[in-house]
Amino acid sequence: MKRVDIKTGFLCNNNCLFCVQADNKLKGNRSFEDIKEDLIGSKERCEGVVFTGGEVTIRKDFFDLVKLAKELGYKTIQIQTNGRMFASLDFCKKTIAAGATEFSPALHGYCKEQHDYLTRSPGSFNQTVKGIKNLKSLGAYVLTNTVVVRSNYTNLPQIARLLVKLNADQFQFAFVHPMGNAWKNFNNIVPRISLAAPYMHKGLQIGIDAGKRVMAEAMPYCLMHGYEDYVAEIVIPETEIRGKTSQNTDSFDKQRKEQGKAKFPQCKKCKYDNICEGPWREYPEKLGPAEFHPIGDM
Ligand code: SF4
Repeated sequence: MKRVDIKTGFLCNNNCLFCVQADNKLKGNRSFEDIKEDLIGSKERCEGVVFTGGEVTIRKDFFDLVKLAKELGYKTIQIQTNGRMFASLDFCKKTIAAGATEFSPALHGYCKEQHDYLTRSPGSFNQTVKGIKNLKSLGAYVLTNTVVVRSNYTNLPQIARLLVKLNADQFQFAFVHPMGNAWKNFNNIVPRISLAAPYMHKGLQIGIDAGKRVMAEAMPYCLMHGYEDYVAEIVIPETEIRGKTSQNTDSFDKQRKEQGKAKFPQCKKCKYDNICEGPWREYPEKLGPAEFHPIGDM
């Protein structure tokens, strides 16, 4: 099922140390009419919509956007969010009544100190956790995202345990994309990917053992030994991106492979060369290709 990722604008009530959209914040939010045009335009090709930002839930017309997507006939309506607004049960009920079918809140820490440090927003951990609890109490489908950075990678198993306890349906660990704030703060934010990998595996295993659907994004196969089936890129649905930004594309898959990710001369000798996208290209630009070792014989 193809889906459209609608970037609704760049305003946000968090201010994450690793925000990839930080450079776009001055562009503000898009108008309702502008977004409506994209929703109508993509409907003939897409059955699902994902609202992203910035933070779509802080828009005054948030419920109207969700209602419009439902009226247009989108079968799945996913809200990608920092989760804070869902700390209000009433807000959750209204969003579900408007037509949202899936919620993708971001949880970056196992405790308030860690999460709030990364979001630079005091109180955000408690709100996001409450949001997940509220959504689950209403029977909503919750798939979380955790950005893997220097200050949280050793705690990924604890984050996984918390997500299992919160009864999230699915969780993803996404190796940080060094763009925006993450590029500016590279040395403080981006860990060695080969050091983060074992902790990602431990966290994934906790989810697997609990019967959860789990995945890891932006992790090449050579760093996913034993967890190859959990590489996110093989299950990300075909997606187009609409947002009046340079990220607009008819194929996120193609854009990622051709512009976003990096491969290396040694990849030619790797049995995963055909299906592996490699790491985000900014990573080896700073830290080189030495951590990526070809697997098996061709
Ligand atoms: S060596 Fe290259 S192709 Fe093989 S898994 Fe690593 S990054 Fe992917």
